[in-house]
Amino acid sequence: QRFFNVLGIPIIHSNHHSFIDLLEGQIKENKKTFVVTANPEIVMRALNDKGYEGYLKKADYITADGIGIVIASKILNQPLPGRVSGTDMMLDLLEIANQKRHRVYFLGAAEFVLQLLLKNVHERYPQVEIVGSHNGFFDWNDNNIEEEIKSTEPDLIFVALGVPKQEQWIAEHLDSFQKGVFMGVGGSFDVIAG
Ligand code: UDP
Repeated sequence: QRFFNVLGIPIIHSNHHSFIDLLEGQIKENKKTFVVTANPEIVMRALNDKGYEGYLKKADYITADGIGIVIASKILNQPLPGRVSGTDMMLDLLEIANQKRHRVYFLGAAEFVLQLLLKNVHERYPQVEIVGSHNGFFDWNDNNIEEEIKSTEPDLIFVALGVPKQEQWIAEHLDSFQKGVFMGVGGSFDVIAG
């Protein structure tokens, strides 16, 4: 596997389709996976915030979400194939989950956004097993979300708490889980909610 190292952050050298294939393989093999979709804001935060840098170190894969990182790779003569965006991946993974009846958990966004998202997912991807969800405004010390994910064993866990909270939540809880592809997806719930 090749990486583009931008200020110490290893960005996977992959296009959208091959990265989706890689994640499908991880799901098939029940391999726990933490994906960060990085934009320049994330890279700059990692530079300035050691705690956040530590969360990124726990990621299995960091993709280039945001054209800024793709442009930087070209300037530095290590051209990345293109963007691998969180929203695009979420839509393709839901399509795959619909075909394969994967189990999906949604964490994040305001309650009304989350409810609209769940309704849209149910309508567009009726075979997706929505095993649980929680809005993104909860007490950080509350273990209920972790317990629910542990007991429902989702294949995919989309986390839309914005930067830096989504990476922090995944990094702090990852050790508790046996399986699942965990992905921080920023404002994607709002986009898919319509
Ligand atoms: N969000 C959340 N909990 C929080 C803060 C934000 O669930 O404590 C949600 C917010 O409602 C939105 C998403 O995270 O759905 C992305 O937020 P924002 O656009 O601020 O983050 P960015 O896309 O810049 O990472």
